[in-house]
Amino acid sequence: MRINEIFYSLQGEGHFTGRPAIFIRFAGCNLRCPFCDTDFTSYTEMTVADILQAIASYPARFVVLTGGEPSLQLTPEFIAALKDAGYFLSIETNGTHPLPAGIDWITLSPKSAFVKRADVVLEHCNELKLVYSGKVNPEEFLSIKADEHYLQPCDTGSDMANEVILQTTIEYCKKHPLWSLSLQMHKLVGIK
Ligand code: SF4
Repeated sequence: MRINEIFYSLQGEGHFTGRPAIFIRFAGCNLRCPFCDTDFTSYTEMTVADILQAIASYPARFVVLTGGEPSLQLTPEFIAALKDAGYFLSIETNGTHPLPAGIDWITLSPKSAFVKRADVVLEHCNELKLVYSGKVNPEEFLSIKADEHYLQPCDTGSDMANEVILQTTIEYCKKHPLWSLSLQMHKLVGIK
């Protein structure tokens, strides 16, 4: 498997914000979102055994499969090996590829409002997390079944634009209480 990085930190977004987590970042993505701030191109080839060894020393048993787009590389064997080792598996996916069975928590962040060929094929997720800039209508994504709904203000790289988007997102959530605000906590507190 092509692994960009493995690190231990706190989950910064969505339902599990603040929870200690082992991040396994898979290299490569099938999309090119204009706001993407992740370097997912470089990688080390690792076997499932290599990955298990790399994460064994971390005390948490909560794993975040992220990328890039992790679904491009996930296999049933990988999921089974980590489950057998006692890990709770969550995934951050753009939803354009099917997932192997056995993942405990699916965070779906659709990107079809921002790039072409990003149609979502997943029918259900645990949390729907929409990057929000005020230009997308979140109601368009309600055909995707989700247990929880989050709007995450788009990080434009401009403090002034971000402040406007944050206030717009807060107002949208207050008017449409199905949606909750998700902040990128790791950026706010200065952790990875
Ligand atoms: S789907 Fe995610 S990782 Fe891929 S380009 Fe878009 S923001 Fe970046």
